[in-house]
Amino acid sequence: TRRPMIAGNWKMHKTCPEAEDTARALVGQLTGKEEAEVMIAPPATALVPVSRIIGDTPVQLGAQNLFWENQGAYTGEVSAPMLVSAGCRYVIIGHSERRQYFGETDEGVNKKIKAAVAAGLVPVICIGESETERDGGKTFSVLDKQMEKGLEGLSEDQFSQAVMAYEPVWAIGTGRSATPEQAQEVHAHVRQFLEKRFGAQTAGAARILYGGSVKPANTAELMALPDIDGALVGGASLKPDTFAEIIHYKR
Ligand code: 13P
Repeated sequence: TRRPMIAGNWKMHKTCPEAEDTARALVGQLTGKEEAEVMIAPPATALVPVSRIIGDTPVQLGAQNLFWENQGAYTGEVSAPMLVSAGCRYVIIGHSERRQYFGETDEGVNKKIKAAVAAGLVPVICIGESETERDGGKTFSVLDKQMEKGLEGLSEDQFSQAVMAYEPVWAIGTGRSATPEQAQEVHAHVRQFLEKRFGAQTAGAARILYGGSVKPANTAELMALPDIDGALVGGASLKPDTFAEIIHYKR
């Protein structure tokens, strides 16, 4: 059985004091008996202060990006070992905003996944199609290419801890979530891909999160689906009360 995961991607929001306040308030909303694993991904500047706050609590820390080299003359970049030293367990890789605005490619995603795994971080690997691609009937072929290239050369062992995140680009920040049927169809397809690539056991154990306009009102119906193992939440993760409602979707 796969433990569900509710992850908050704060994107480029919150100064250090704002991030600390949010993390503190979130911790205060949790009982410690949550069924879902909880992860938050603050901006890089807030990783260390937030890690001090969530220290012994059930909240896990994630970063939103990394660079694949461990160190060197790469001004402005942050490496996997640096994220580990800041307290991260997870790192989001290949988010569509990075692909769209920062030129991230499947090849780069592949290098980042390998660097994350080598450092002991768990990658949260994002894939997703644009609205044009969906309308053109290309959803599965786009996702297959992102997975083929993104996961190229990864062994079953290297992939074994990884988390996948399906985020249709047209559902991100639009208030227009994928329908449960649309999401389940894709998640089942992703799991099939993983089965062909890594075998039934690894595919069966892999968590596949859905992201794109997740909110308290639609979490339960998405989480009820057989191949949806969690949510990657943007906007609705910024307010601790709202995010806690999503975490407690079963109540
Ligand atoms: P929204 O929840 O704001 O649509 O963002 C989803 C997302 O991109 C999470 O990574």
